[in-house]
Amino acid sequence: MLRSYAAAGLLVPTAVDESSGYRYYSPGQLLQARIVALLRQAQIGIDEIAGFFDNPDAFQLDRWDRQIVSESTARRQALAQARAALAIGRAAPPTQSENSRKGSAVTHTFVTGTATHIGGRDSNQDAWLVSDGLFAVADGLGGLQDGEVASRLTLDTFDAAFTADRTVSGLLGACREANRAVWRQANGQDATMGSTLAVLAMTSDAAAIVLHVGDSRLYRLRNGRLEQLTHDHTVIADLMRAGELSESDAQTHPYRNVLTRAIGVAPEVDIDHSGASCEPGDRFVLCSDGLFKVLSTDELKVMLASEVEPQRSADQLVANAVKREAEDNVTAVIIDVH
Ligand code: MG
Repeated sequence: MLRSYAAAGLLVPTAVDESSGYRYYSPGQLLQARIVALLRQAQIGIDEIAGFFDNPDAFQLDRWDRQIVSESTARRQALAQARAALAIGRAAPPTQSENSRKGSAVTHTFVTGTATHIGGRDSNQDAWLVSDGLFAVADGLGGLQDGEVASRLTLDTFDAAFTADRTVSGLLGACREANRAVWRQANGQDATMGSTLAVLAMTSDAAAIVLHVGDSRLYRLRNGRLEQLTHDHTVIADLMRAGELSESDAQTHPYRNVLTRAIGVAPEVDIDHSGASCEPGDRFVLCSDGLFKVLSTDELKVMLASEVEPQRSADQLVANAVKREAEDNVTAVIIDVH
């Protein structure tokens, strides 16, 4: 191994004993040896590493980072295409016993249902996540494949980072991490790809937190009352909050689809988060705009209240949206609290 490194100009021994062939290395080469080992672990080629030591800089590390993300994304896309070709959906969400999570004070058990549909689009750029005490929907923005990559990358990065640090600050850090991952994937070009993100998370220090960027939503059904716990980051929502636009005018406003915030469209992201009261009997719904743009809040409430089983409820919501000829992708994640 060391001989092949030396052949590439890496870790050249300071001296070689001619009779025994023993190779001597200086103490200063230990750091280089450690860096070479780490870069090899990242599967960087020996020749590339040798070139890197001629002029080590952050740009090359960033290039490798992007390459790794893009290779992994390409592998995930191929896997997703294989899944689609086999017509095999995702495995069932974690069962009741697997998905209990202690917040700061109480232990909740969650039973979930998930459904998504391509709607009238050519690809489904929505993605959902049901993980350990972590539930999310992301709606990708960008060209045909870019949106799919952005929403999946957002959720995968978010999930991994939050799993490593389940505090509220870890949750915000996970969102920033997801933002950086998509921004890097877009090669730092403004707004070529992005994603919304709406999350309900059980943190270790403050129980349930709702976090969102963009116009995917979280609702809570409690005692027959449906409450929207997020406010859309869109031009029309801002105008309506300011009292400058009526709900009926908003339907035809030229900027009705324009987001004011999204994951991955700039190096930094503004995040909204707050505590969410979460009690046994509550039903939470995370959804993409494809759902609430064709079903009114009243219709949502009636449908959510009429079906007890969360998977059937998610299926029903999405099927009803599709029946209305939803132009957009439609996704719903139902979380029942026990
Ligand atoms: Mg959408």
